[in-house]
Amino acid sequence: MGGGKVTDWQGKNVTVAGLGVSGIPAAKVLHGLGAKVTVVNDGDDARARAQAAELEALGIAVRLGDGATLPEGTELVVTAPGWKPDKPLFAAAREAGLEIWGDVELAWRLRGPDAAPWLAVTGTNGKTTTVQMLASILKAAGLRTAAVGNIGVSLLDAVLGEEQYDVLAVELSSYQLHWAPSLRAHSAAVLNLAPDHLDWHGSMEAYAADKGRIYEGNRVACVYNVADKATEDLVREADVEEGCRAIGFTLGAPALSQLGVVDGILVDRAFVENRQKNAQELAEVSDVNPPAPHNIANALAAAALARAFGVPPAAVRDGLRAFTPDAHRIAHVADVDGVAYVDDSKATNTHAAQASLAAYESIVWIAGGLAKGAVFEELVAKSAGRLRAAVLIGADRGLIREALARHAPEVPVVDLDRTDTGAMLAAVQEARRLAVAGDTVLLAPACASMDMFANYNQRGDAFAEAVRELGAGA
Ligand code: ADP
Repeated sequence: MGGGKVTDWQGKNVTVAGLGVSGIPAAKVLHGLGAKVTVVNDGDDARARAQAAELEALGIAVRLGDGATLPEGTELVVTAPGWKPDKPLFAAAREAGLEIWGDVELAWRLRGPDAAPWLAVTGTNGKTTTVQMLASILKAAGLRTAAVGNIGVSLLDAVLGEEQYDVLAVELSSYQLHWAPSLRAHSAAVLNLAPDHLDWHGSMEAYAADKGRIYEGNRVACVYNVADKATEDLVREADVEEGCRAIGFTLGAPALSQLGVVDGILVDRAFVENRQKNAQELAEVSDVNPPAPHNIANALAAAALARAFGVPPAAVRDGLRAFTPDAHRIAHVADVDGVAYVDDSKATNTHAAQASLAAYESIVWIAGGLAKGAVFEELVAKSAGRLRAAVLIGADRGLIREALARHAPEVPVVDLDRTDTGAMLAAVQEARRLAVAGDTVLLAPACASMDMFANYNQRGDAFAEAVRELGAGA
């Protein structure tokens, strides 16, 4: 099974690693193509058994409770993207000279001869938003498209389903890229690079290298963030098709071959005739929802990919206007007594929270949760001037309190010393007490939510609910 398309699956021994959102559909598709599929899974709980029974009824073999041993006779491994590369199963596969594909690689290999090209997006933060903006722009241009990958339609469905597409807007995680060696996008963007998932990748270098794979073999444009040199370095290191261009995006005035912002207008100096002298107006900053700096960067990245695909300027504007962000991403909940309450529960790491704090001038910051090994020094140091006060909740709030004490000693801090779900109401009440008219109370926890909530959605809902109670009592 060398590079290129695999057409003959009949009787091929494929091991699918992991029962889960990608493993089950992969196993079914491969079985449907005639492969002899064995699914291996570490867990052996009731849910896994029910899933196994369903697959076994179709004729797919399943081994529960042993995801480490490579089944005899395996010719190809298809893994769930989240499986860590240092698993013994992979060592055995490599030893046997086998290829290991993730869900993205599988979709890429199974796509048909007239398949839609991929416009791909990765980065530490902003992927979902950017891919959705991109799909909205492509739709506004009359193209048949979908936001796929980590979100919306699954890649396998997009590639194998009935629906015909002209182009796909594909969100890719660093894990997925790690396991997608032959992926070749039409054009791709790395939005930003901050330390994340380092325990999985092993090091920042390995994480960056996996992200950088998105540029490999690009045909038209490698889109990078001018403000984040690491993304530009990845473009330089990538092997691309002849004629593929490096296109930067910046919140400042664009240099040649960049998209940027001039006097509140998003402009293109990359995909225009005579770009030495000309720039093309694409949209106004106020067309971007919300018009926070990091989100304008997302819009510029989406616009760059769309323009690389030949989309006209008016469609960029229309697509951005038609876009509404998913819940819990800088969502304006309400104004109470002249104070804005904003839910950015999705800011689950420090890089995201920093972007969100940069979007407001005077903030009562609600933060805390599970730190996942994060360090808060830079976040607090860079945001100190914008903080009216901070209200801390959650298991690792002490780390943020210490960072505040070091880098923003004058900022009043309320440490709620609580990790129960009801603490959010108390946090919002404290924030109200501390805020003055014109301030923003911002939930941007910089932490994961699982110490107090099922997920970031529930955390954001609890915040919105508490704000509504405030409003009702006001
Ligand atoms: P992802 O899919 O990469 O997790 P999302 O679009 O869902 O990204 O946004 C997640 C969070 O990251 C947002 O709530 C916001 O706080 C932050 N964010 C979004 N875009 C950016 C960006 N370009 N730079 C930094 N932080 C961002």
